[in-house]
Amino acid sequence: MRTAKQYLEKLAAMKPNLYLNGEKVGRDHEAVVRASHAIRVTFGLVNDPEFEPLLTATSHISGEKINRFTHIHQSADDLLKKQELTRKICGVAGGCVQRCMGCDMMNGISAAVKDLDAAHGTHYEENFLAFLKKFQEEDLVVAGSQTDAKGDRMKRPSEQWDPDQYLHVVERREDGVVVRGCKLHNTMAPYSDELLIVPTRAMGPDEKDYAISFAIPADTEGVHLIVREAFSQQRDPNIDAPIAHVGDLESMTVFDNVFVPNERIFLNGETEFAATYALNFALFHRHSYTGCKPGIGDIILGTTALIADYQGIRKQSHVKEKLAELISVAELVYAAGIASAVKSTKASSGTQMPNVLFANAGRRHAGHHIYHEFNTLCDIAGGIAATLPLSKEYNHPEIGDFVKKYVTRREGVSSEDCYRAFALAGDLLTGEYSSVVFQVAGVHGGGSPIMEDIAIMGNYNLKEKMDIAKALAGIKSE
Ligand SMILES: Cc1cc2nc3c(=O)[nH]c(=O)nc-3n(C[C@H](O)[C@H](O)[C@H](O)COP(=O)(O)OP(=O)(O)OC[C@H]3O[C@@H](n4cnc5c(N)ncnc54)[C@H](O)[C@@H]3O)c2cc1C
Repeated sequence: MRTAKQYLEKLAAMKPNLYLNGEKVGRDHEAVVRASHAIRVTFGLVNDPEFEPLLTATSHISGEKINRFTHIHQSADDLLKKQELTRKICGVAGGCVQRCMGCDMMNGISAAVKDLDAAHGTHYEENFLAFLKKFQEEDLVVAGSQTDAKGDRMKRPSEQWDPDQYLHVVERREDGVVVRGCKLHNTMAPYSDELLIVPTRAMGPDEKDYAISFAIPADTEGVHLIVREAFSQQRDPNIDAPIAHVGDLESMTVFDNVFVPNERIFLNGETEFAATYALNFALFHRHSYTGCKPGIGDIILGTTALIADYQGIRKQSHVKEKLAELISVAELVYAAGIASAVKSTKASSGTQMPNVLFANAGRRHAGHHIYHEFNTLCDIAGGIAATLPLSKEYNHPEIGDFVKKYVTRREGVSSEDCYRAFALAGDLLTGEYSSVVFQVAGVHGGGSPIMEDIAIMGNYNLKEKMDIAKALAGIKSE
């Protein structure tokens, strides 16, 4: 397994193809290194006695000990461990751990590629297993890249006035294909070793060029990452805190005539499998959300309870009711993920597939409540979360003592602890990372809310429930 240092060294050696704040930069740029914090946590904790049993797994292809973020789940227990790990590690990373994306997409492909070969006499599984071996041996960080720009939402890929709105093959060669298009909202792509691509949606028989899945190094010729950063508020060193180092980079990843060699292709024109690739990733990713959303809920809940305590209002009935509500949202979402793992099934490849209904119901519940959870923290924290003087004023020789005096709440809690708690609430509520990325990702990550409804309705036996109603009503007709 790699160390965080080795991971950063490899990033630094990659060709610069990131565009950040108007400049072309390398992956050793301060903002890139800073944003990779969550990923570095996934390397740094592998020998931690508390995390080791969750963060490591045994590879089903090599029998070696590997980082769980490179594992293909083989049992319900694997899914439970992944969910527990995702929740727990959020508390250390200060939010989204990000690395689940590539792992979820690898699992999604692993569960479909064998059936694809059986149906078409192709050899994509060989390509996939060779890449999986590298993924596990080199402990790679892979950005799951699914969401296309999509142009006019009411038009299919082949109907777009601009064919590049969905990533597609523009040239077929003996040794591979050339692709053009763009993947949007590409979290962590700027600090990933590889980009892993699957289609966004189902494709029709005339959309062979759009039914494409592959993996390539993130600095491949023709790939441009147009990057935007989101971070918490930076602090003066003597009032610094872990939350102040939390952030991410999101990328609009452009593929401008990029060559993909045959051995890196996992789907190429077999249109009826495009939907399976898309849905499998969504399923694994929504199951991951049943771990990370409670993890983010833990941070919001913990901050709300801490501030209520410092304000002296923790025992007030309206506060207790709000805390109980936050707990219930997090635990119900987590319970849905447990149910999804316990009721999981095996794909023909041996990959363990989460139960669709429970994973989607849990993800849906989380998405519906995300803004309300932040609203509750805002309610309890009061306006100071938005108006707290910044760390330079806290440390100012002339007015610093006023800041300390007037952020202090109940007797017995130091002004520094009060300041730290309000600064954390401020980061969560007004910081561009948590208040923008967490909230919007809480709604759209893993697919817009309607996609969960479609998955639920497509997998639910509604007739059975209507038959119950008919029987109780004494209705005999079919
Ligand atoms: C912070 C963040 C990080 C993300 N990270 C990743 C990532 O790493 N990799 C990745 O692949 N994706 C990522 N996503 C993308 C995420 O999966 C998408 O945002 C989601 O699928 C919605 O797509 P969209 O943003 O294009 O929204 P849109 O598709 O534009 O949706 C907007 C609205 O239009 C509606 N709509 C769209 N099409 C139709 C239609 N045909 N008919 C009726 N209504 C329609 C939707 O239901 C929704 O209400 C991320 C998203 C966020 C916010």
